Amino acid sequence: MEKRTEIENLGEFGLIDKLTEKTQKYQDSTIKGIGDDAAVIDSGDYFTLVSTDMLVEGIHFDMMYTPLRHLGYKSIIVNLSDIYAMNGEAKQVTVSIAVSSRFSVEALEEIYAGIHKACELYKVDLVGGDTTSSTSGLIISVTAMGTVAKDEIVYRSGGKENDLLVVSGNLGGAYMGLQVLEREKEVYKDNPNMQPQLEGVDYILERQLKPEARKDIVHHLSELGIMPTSMIDISDGLASEVKHLCKAGGLGAEIYDEKLPIDQETYDVARDFNLDPSTCALNGGEDYELLFSISQNDYDKIKDSKHMTVVGHYTDKNAGVNVVDRNGQSIPMEAQGWTHF
Ligand code: ADP
Ligand code: MG
Repeated sequence: MEKRTEIENLGEFGLIDKLTEKTQKYQDSTIKGIGDDAAVIDSGDYFTLVSTDMLVEGIHFDMMYTPLRHLGYKSIIVNLSDIYAMNGEAKQVTVSIAVSSRFSVEALEEIYAGIHKACELYKVDLVGGDTTSSTSGLIISVTAMGTVAKDEIVYRSGGKENDLLVVSGNLGGAYMGLQVLEREKEVYKDNPNMQPQLEGVDYILERQLKPEARKDIVHHLSELGIMPTSMIDISDGLASEVKHLCKAGGLGAEIYDEKLPIDQETYDVARDFNLDPSTCALNGGEDYELLFSISQNDYDKIKDSKHMTVVGHYTDKNAGVNVVDRNGQSIPMEAQGWTHF
């Protein structure tokens, strides 16, 4: 009998590793292939960055509560985020869609209104794509391209022991927004006459439905004269991304629970749901903030910034990846990430 391995035995990252372990490199211009937020290609005077991400109905979004315009917007944002995570400038996108006859032309035009809006705000050009039918549901795949000066590229690797770990913005909001939407969906399914309870949660709903990519942080760091030593975008939750950085850099890390930047609305709603706000900040996904490391010498340059928070530092690899709780106790960090399988 032929061997059959279930995907769930590997998980998302295990599956990617397995499928790509035999990848060969034939081109000298391929500087970095699989394993960072974007591929890095030598274009002579500069590097070209390429990143691709797919949004699948029923996995990444639910048509019951996702406005199509926001979906189009978000499909661009999640890809631009990976370009900024390399310290690059996003320039072009391609958009491919697979769509069932359940969607009207008007519905698809709504998606494109959101795509055009994101392109306008982030100054990127839609330069191509592909359109095909699907037997069920909607799939949007976007590829983003960008550039970065050769001496300004930042990889996931590159951090040094004692470098400070910094996050932009705040964490856990997108996850709490999703919890509210899921709750209201259940209420609606039980009684379609009920009006959704969405007062006072505007911020976290926006974090979930219409996230932004931190182009501004890349510019801000450059203005401050800071070159991050390593960087990644936070798509699967801080814990998961810290582990990626540590693995890539051959390092350990210590993250301080009390330093996690959590917005008040996120905090309050987490409490309403009987969830620990810190757990939501560590393991909630889709914030699309940046996580990066800086030399301790650069601390003074960012310490007063409203947009950046030092949450910890790199340690020796042997110390592992830990969260220091409010009692000063160091606990191994759990990183579930988002496992779709
Ligand atoms: P991100 O969360 O930043 O989008 P992923 O975790 O999706 O990154 O992917 C990790 C790495 O694996 C990336 O370099 C990505 O390009 C690569 N990758 C993911 N899926 C595949 C695949 N099916 N074939 C080849 N490379 C892949
Ligand atoms: Mg990424």
